[in-house]
Amino acid sequence: MRLVARFFALAGVLSLLLTAGCYQVPVTGRSAMSMVSDKEVAKQSMAAFEEMKKKYTVSRNKDFKERVQRVGERLAKAVFGDVPDADWEFVVFEVPQQVNAFAMAGGKVGVFTGLFKIVKNDDQLASVLAHEIAHVAARHVNERLSRQMAVKGGGLLVGGVMAGRGAGYLTSGAVLDAYGLSTGITAVGFDRKKEKEADHIGIMYMARAGYNPEESIRVIESLEAASTGQPLPPAWLSTHPSNPERILQLMDLMPKALEAYRQSSRIQTPVLVK
Ligand SMILES: [Zn+2]
Repeated sequence: MRLVARFFALAGVLSLLLTAGCYQVPVTGRSAMSMVSDKEVAKQSMAAFEEMKKKYTVSRNKDFKERVQRVGERLAKAVFGDVPDADWEFVVFEVPQQVNAFAMAGGKVGVFTGLFKIVKNDDQLASVLAHEIAHVAARHVNERLSRQMAVKGGGLLVGGVMAGRGAGYLTSGAVLDAYGLSTGITAVGFDRKKEKEADHIGIMYMARAGYNPEESIRVIESLEAASTGQPLPPAWLSTHPSNPERILQLMDLMPKALEAYRQSSRIQTPVLVK
């Protein structure tokens, strides 16, 4: 019996290795591994996004909607090479107490109305959205789901694989969980390394889209100022790394980001023909 169990465990690990895929994170070039299928994550993310639309009131504020659409579309164009299969959708949710935004695989982006208390211009909005889109481009949720599968004891996974279901056991609930959105609006972020990576990728994305990367620092400062004296900091801030650590990294990346920004404005400025 133990031998049989061992055989199945070994077969499970083998299947796991066969289904696992290495990939390179855009911009940072970090090597990462995913044990879940991109297609399945995108499918379940889209289902999870539909659930969010049912759970929260979609905002009717024309100004907010136009701003998010305008900035979102420009970012989507700039990240096309890194997120080619996305079917972009930008939705504003009427949750004034929530200073946050999120993006899901498949190109589903949500912005809570509370964020507009903080972002003062398109560049600042672009900075927040670019950070969220960076999590998608880096497939951070794949990594989190893969780790959960490994921790839960290949049991679930091995069972799934042995039954020929592969990653099919993924549900929209599990995916919402992995995005940190299942507990409702008190979204939790990724770990410190992934948040820093999203900041790194995000500042380059916003710059490529023609938004001033210097505004990324101002957003963090405004968020910090707004959260002082509040019992709970906004979700966007409630994760590690600390704000000074985030700002220091952004300052380090600034020369590169400003160069990308200058290049993008050269491309976008219409050339006057004499
Ligand atoms: Zn984040």
